[in-house]
Amino acid sequence: MKNTSEIKFCTKCFYNSEHPLKITFDSQGVCSGCRVHEEKFSLDWKKRLKQLKKIVNKFKNKNFYDCIVPVTGAKDSFFILDVVKNKLGLNPLLVNYNIHHNTLNGLRNIGLLRTLFDCDYIQKTVEPNKIRRINQATFDKFGSIYWHVLAGSTTFPVQIATKYKIPLIIWGVHQGCDQVGMFSHLDEVEMTRKYRKEHDLMGFEAEDLLGEGYDLTENDLLNYYYPSNKDISKVGVIGVYLSNYIKWDTKKQHEEMLKKYKYETVLQERTFDSYNNIDCIHYNGIHDYIKLIKCGYSKITDHVIREMRFNRLQRDEGALLINHYESKNTKDLDLLLNFNKISYEKFNKICEKIRNKKLWRKKNNKFSLKFRSKSNKKNNLEQIEKRLSFFKTKPSIIQDKSKYNLFNKSWVDKSK
Ligand SMILES: [Zn+2]
Repeated sequence: MKNTSEIKFCTKCFYNSEHPLKITFDSQGVCSGCRVHEEKFSLDWKKRLKQLKKIVNKFKNKNFYDCIVPVTGAKDSFFILDVVKNKLGLNPLLVNYNIHHNTLNGLRNIGLLRTLFDCDYIQKTVEPNKIRRINQATFDKFGSIYWHVLAGSTTFPVQIATKYKIPLIIWGVHQGCDQVGMFSHLDEVEMTRKYRKEHDLMGFEAEDLLGEGYDLTENDLLNYYYPSNKDISKVGVIGVYLSNYIKWDTKKQHEEMLKKYKYETVLQERTFDSYNNIDCIHYNGIHDYIKLIKCGYSKITDHVIREMRFNRLQRDEGALLINHYESKNTKDLDLLLNFNKISYEKFNKICEKIRNKKLWRKKNNKFSLKFRSKSNKKNNLEQIEKRLSFFKTKPSIIQDKSKYNLFNKSWVDKSK
């Protein structure tokens, strides 16, 4: 284990001890994420699936809906629904929080999803002026323009569960378990208010934005108030993660769904992964740039590490990909700042405030990362990506990136 001014680095992957999801290291210098990932190759997944069936069967036919499935126009939703309907035989209510910065491909995918799976669907679309005021506050307070998406997506399904008395919520992957090995798969960790606040919401609940001098009232934030413990226990709401019971491999899963349904992929600016989070204009744009400033790494590192752990990528190839994508410029900053009425001066000022000084250095008025992964220049980027083979489907819609789209105009006909 290298020890550079108290920052520890994993000897297998590229994560270090500054990871926001709290990583630990064993005596061999291997991080908890790499160690828990090894379970994917040793656990009896048939047995794990049986265990999941035993859990969910208790909820079958008790209500009009057996469970809630939170869905988006990307990120494993097709796979989750395929499992829930076709493997577990459940009748789910689909719940979606409108992320506001939708790509048209994401809207198209969610339209297809609703049509293909024949499920009832509830969506929450918060009024855009409220989103603007919330974004102004969260960006000023802790440098996030994405808090409303994370808070809305984790709160709305629980609000619906308590309101309609549907106790079972089925989520896809547990990020803390999958990325940094916060828990073993065998812990069967469930959704908790504590994890959601500390990690998903960066430590801030909606209530924490009140009385801080921001242009926000309780009415603006009610959509993001997590139900009370009393209401949750009255219904007995539990949130189960499929990744504890199924060998979670998002690349393989998306490729199954591409074959089975007509999921549309999108080329991303700052990563090779054309499957995940393709429903959002900012996720792989300015949100990813902010992550780099704050954490010293961006989504490309997460994707490289995931592929390395599945032995689909060598370490020096991963380093090349990281160095290539990490430095790419984003094209969505104007849209974000114009909509939210945030000036460029303010944007730069907040970015400097949240920059992790342990990981960045300033020289001649320019910032650079102190620790960069060494890449073998002999590697060929194009060849590596070709071998990784993330599918690029032909886009059926051309995106106008100068404005937000809240809804899709047309219904997707599944017979076509
Ligand atoms: Zn590691």
